[in-house]
Amino acid sequence: MSGLVSLKDFTPTDLEIWVQEAGQPAFRARQLLKWIYSQNIEDFEAMTDLSKNFRAWLAQNARIPCVVRERVLTDEDGTRKLLFRLQDGERIESVLIDEERRLTLCVSSQVGCALGCRFCLTGEAGFRRNLTAGEIVDQICAAKRELGPNERLTNLVFMGMGEPLANLEQVVKALEIITSDHGLNFSTRKITLSTVGLVPEMLKLSRLLPIKLAVSLHAADDETRSRIMPINRRYPLSELLEACRRLEMPRRQRITFEYLLMDGVNDSTAAARQLAKLLKSLRAKINLIPFNEYPNAAFKRPSPGRIAAFQEILQEEHFTAIVRQSRGAGIMAACGQLRHSH
Ligand code: SAH
Ligand code: SF4
Repeated sequence: MSGLVSLKDFTPTDLEIWVQEAGQPAFRARQLLKWIYSQNIEDFEAMTDLSKNFRAWLAQNARIPCVVRERVLTDEDGTRKLLFRLQDGERIESVLIDEERRLTLCVSSQVGCALGCRFCLTGEAGFRRNLTAGEIVDQICAAKRELGPNERLTNLVFMGMGEPLANLEQVVKALEIITSDHGLNFSTRKITLSTVGLVPEMLKLSRLLPIKLAVSLHAADDETRSRIMPINRRYPLSELLEACRRLEMPRRQRITFEYLLMDGVNDSTAAARQLAKLLKSLRAKINLIPFNEYPNAAFKRPSPGRIAAFQEILQEEHFTAIVRQSRGAGIMAACGQLRHSH
């Protein structure tokens, strides 16, 4: 650890306070923020509107980068996986997904994950630690440096390594920086956070920020869900869906429910009907994700026929149900395939 103050861990308001404590006028914070987030500069020397003295003082007391880009892997489908090293030597990954009209960055919120879902490689690898707000925000700054001259990041998803709501404090702070017009100036409408459904944290987040929520459901009955997702024993389906009804959401916004399809586990037509029944009274949209395989995985992806039959039942029940083919499987960048390597 460097012992230097990490500026990307400050919200714009925090930075203003810190700058004043350093004996500088408050507007210095705005200048710094502009260099850090609008210009994506990491070197104090380049901040030419700051006095030489202040720049030298900053260099001795503060630092800007939180993650170091180690490698970029590019899949045949254009998906880029970015591997980062953190100050303490831990490693995380982000994924840039290029679609027709959007360019989405999928960020990590923890090193590993403690929730142990049976189908997820991140979960299998166990939990190492929470990311700081700066480490979350810096994944975006670093990803922006990878973009070509005609590319612009349009969407952000918290669907990388970790359970974001298990790291709520740092995630909320990161979101403040990401959405502030003095920070990365991202619209809340372009941000989706995926969660297994930590009920109190979901409710709390919805009161703080109007970002979109995706809930990883993956089963329509408690027995199956508890078997594949241990968290269901703490927050069973009835409690989770009740919380979804109580979420504070902008009018017309819908909750996305993610449903991972695993052969012979949760992909029967009976399961589809039960899912439709469960989500009946909710403003829901369903994303069906065929299981992404990885070495020694205990599950299989269902046949295209079974996937189509499942989708059809939901559509007959008037749900928007889309089959999401994960991108980046060729470089182990698809959902559930991210794993930290030491
Ligand atoms: N912890 C959060 C966010 C990260 S995971 C969550 O679980 O929601 C992002 C999505 O990938 C989740 O819906 C997760 O269930 C899904 N996923 C995990 N393993 C997968 C796999 N092997 N194939 C396809 N999707 C997977
Ligand atoms: Fe953690 Fe999400 Fe993986 Fe479950 S699916 S182990 S919550 S990262």
